Order: sequence, then C-alpha cells, then structure tokens
Amino acid sequence: MKKIAVVGSLNIDHVLMVKDLPSRGETIISESYQLKCGGKGANQAAAIGRLGMEVVMIGKIGNDEAGSMQIDSLNISQVNTNGIIIEKNQKTGAAFITVDEASDNNIVLFSGANGNLDNDDIDSKKKYILDSDAVVLQMEIPVETTGRVINFAYENKKKIILSLAPARELDRRILGKVDFLMVNEVEIQFLCGTKFDINNIKDSIISLRRYFKNNIIITLGEMGSVLIDSNDTLYRCPAYRVKAIDSTAAGDAFTGGFIFGLVENLSLRKCLEIGNAAGALTVTKMGAQPSLPFRDELIKFLAGNNSKIEFDR
Ligand code: ADP
Repeated sequence: MKKIAVVGSLNIDHVLMVKDLPSRGETIISESYQLKCGGKGANQAAAIGRLGMEVVMIGKIGNDEAGSMQIDSLNISQVNTNGIIIEKNQKTGAAFITVDEASDNNIVLFSGANGNLDNDDIDSKKKYILDSDAVVLQMEIPVETTGRVINFAYENKKKIILSLAPARELDRRILGKVDFLMVNEVEIQFLCGTKFDINNIKDSIISLRRYFKNNIIITLGEMGSVLIDSNDTLYRCPAYRVKAIDSTAAGDAFTGGFIFGLVENLSLRKCLEIGNAAGALTVTKMGAQPSLPFRDELIKFLAGNNSKIEFDR
C-alpha cells in the first residue's frame, strides 16, 4: 500500500478565546482571535502527507481567501491538492469556535462547499481514487457522497479506512465494506447504542458486531488505543506519556500514524503504536494542521521511547 486518497472536508476554523461562554443574547469581548486550517479531511490528508506518504486530497472549497489558505497549508504538508474542486458560488466551510477558560467550547459549523461535494464531483476525480491503494474518509461531507466513494473504492479493491467522525448514521451495507473503522469513545457509544465501558470493551464489540465485522480501532485519548480485528482478537496499546496542551487533531494525527504503519507493512500492533505516537506528539502543540508531526519527528520520538520499530530511511 503506497498511495492514499483522502476524500473529505476542508474548513477554516475561527477560534475565539473568552473568559466565559456567552449566554443567549449576550455580547462579550474576546482577547484572542485566530484563523486556523481545519476540517477532518484536510487534517488527515496533512497528517499523512507530513509522514512522507503520497497523498491526494479530494474535496471542495469556495473561490475565496479561506480556500487559498487551505491550499497553502496542504502544500506545506506535501499533499497533492489537484483533487480539490473550487466552487464559484459557495464559500469554503468554516467552524466558529468559542473556547472559555475551562476549555469548554461552543462550535457553529458552516458546511459551505463541503456540503456540495456530490457524486458528479467524485466521478470527475475518480482517477485519483483508482490511482490510490487506500481511500480515507470521515463524516463531514454528505453521507450519500461518502457512500458513493466507499462503493466505488470497494468495487476497485482499494483498502477503505473510515473515521466515523462526527458520528452519523451510515447504511450498514456500506459500512460493511470498510476495512478499518476508526472511532473514539463518543462515536462507539453512538454505534453501539449503549454507554461505552473501557473495562468491558468486549460487550461494546458484541453489539457492534451485529453490523460491522471488520477491523475496529478505538482511540481513547490519554488511555491510548485499542484494535479488534475481524477474528475478534483484541490489541491494546497504552498512550505515550507527554505534557498535553491541546488535543485538537489528535485523532487525525492517529489516523495518519496508523496508515503510516500499514504502508510500511507493519503488524497491527505496531500500527497502533505509531498512531499513538503521532497523536501524542500532536497534543504537545497548539493547533490542528501545524501541530501534526513530520516523518523524522515521529521516527525520533519512537526511537526516544525505546520503540523497536525499524523504518526504511
Ligand atoms: P479524538 O480526537 O478522535 O477523540 P483521541 O483524543 O482519542 O482522538 O486521540 C487520538 C490518539 O492520540 C489517542 O489514541 C492517543 O494515542 C493520543 N493521545 C490523545 N490524547 C493524548 C494525551 N493526553 N496523552 C498522550 N496521548 C494522547
């Protein structure tokens, strides 16, 4: 597995820091306003590109400054942006995020061009999917489009990796075609319909197995990650101990690291280890795309943590 196509969202995050979140009708002052490149699709493409894999981003932006910012940011992360469509009459997706002193937040999401990524767009960029070994998706574009991509990738025998984020319903027949389903605690709870219990992962898996038979990866923040393969073998990998300052994009970094392991043909256990390392490095820095590790940084971090994994330099 060498070339990766990411099909998903591109957003600009408008982040406002405040003392307390505003109540209804209230106007408050923010002391800090930042513009950042985000969107789970773009973040995962950046995470993969920074680790030195060949990756193309398929998605939609508006003909605006926010869209140009995304292209520039993805270029820095070595992502091929030829799969990105610019839509004249729509704006680039945007997230308006207000964060208070206790790190609680409010988010208003404007899908913008992401919401218009349709089947015709996918058809117009299908050569990039055909040219890839694996296709990576999330849930921030229309569900029908996600379904179309999964069906097409499956027919063409591509490996399919889906982050079910944010958690939304997906036709079970389509979900069944996914090779690796990535979820966090909230998302697995959504799928299972019952509260996720870390000490009783098997119960959650039993309810999930009613409609998903393949590999499931659960990321658990500072508790690391777990993988249950299609034979129900459970792999657990503890998180690295780091000084966490911002958990934004940790899950996206994990996805990049895990895929890095798959590309290097490493065991599933090692793929988890690399995913954890990428996630850990990301939480030590502020921001989304700028906090994602590059290949050398990741390899150095693993070596510094007594990892036995060997990479082709
Ligand atoms: P998501 O953003 O999807 O909720 P997680 O918060 O579970 O994802 O983070 C993804 C991965 O990043 C985790 O499985 C873990 O390996 C790593 N990670 C996240 N938070 C921390 C932390 N505080 N310390 C060390 N590793 C972390």
